Amino acid sequence: MIRPLNIAGRLVQSVADIVFPRVCAMCGCSLTRGEDMMCLHCRSSLPETRMHRMSPNSMEEKLFGTVPFERAAAYCHYDRGAPYARLIQDAKYRGRPAIMRWLARRYALGLRADGFFDGIDAVMPVPMHFLKKMKRGFNQAEWVARGVAQATGLPVIDNLRAVRGHATQTRRGSYARWENSRELYKTVRPGEIDGLHLLIVDDVVTTGATIIACAECVRQASPTVRLSALTIASARMS
Ligand SMILES: [Zn+2]
Repeated sequence: MIRPLNIAGRLVQSVADIVFPRVCAMCGCSLTRGEDMMCLHCRSSLPETRMHRMSPNSMEEKLFGTVPFERAAAYCHYDRGAPYARLIQDAKYRGRPAIMRWLARRYALGLRADGFFDGIDAVMPVPMHFLKKMKRGFNQAEWVARGVAQATGLPVIDNLRAVRGHATQTRRGSYARWENSRELYKTVRPGEIDGLHLLIVDDVVTTGATIIACAECVRQASPTVRLSALTIASARMS
């Protein structure tokens, strides 16, 4: 039986769709009822890595180094110029962070079913220097963390700070990125994270230097911490 409230709700949605048409964040086509953020065609064309089912995977290889990671995975491959890459850029540079939250939630729901979050205690976004955050208006990694939290019920820990601003990493080489990421972060309440298994999250992983720098900082402050990592996209290494 269709209840009157459902009919009223659909009517309100239909009117809202006429006044404020909902369009796909990737291709711009009108969304139909039941679609949210992206049309079904674009969803099915996402270049998903499914790397969480492989070990070692390419992200674990990027993060291999001084700090051990228990698990690491990225939702999609990032190829510059691809429609999906433009989606990430829209989220970051054109003030649409809700896309990040939506992608993170969608990814986390899938990962949860595969046990990826088993034993993880909290989500920790890669921090952004407060001046940069003021300029951009948001930290996209925090929106990724919110999406993961929505899907898993895990708390988001705000314990890491970017202690100095730094130039964008986009056009730097691997070594320069690594140099640039060193000693960028500090923990503010080390005791709070003792013994926890933390999931460091960010929007895109390129070389892995930023996540490694966060991990080194956290482990220095609290050696009993265990770490995993998740991002929305992972740049293919040429
Ligand atoms: Zn679309």
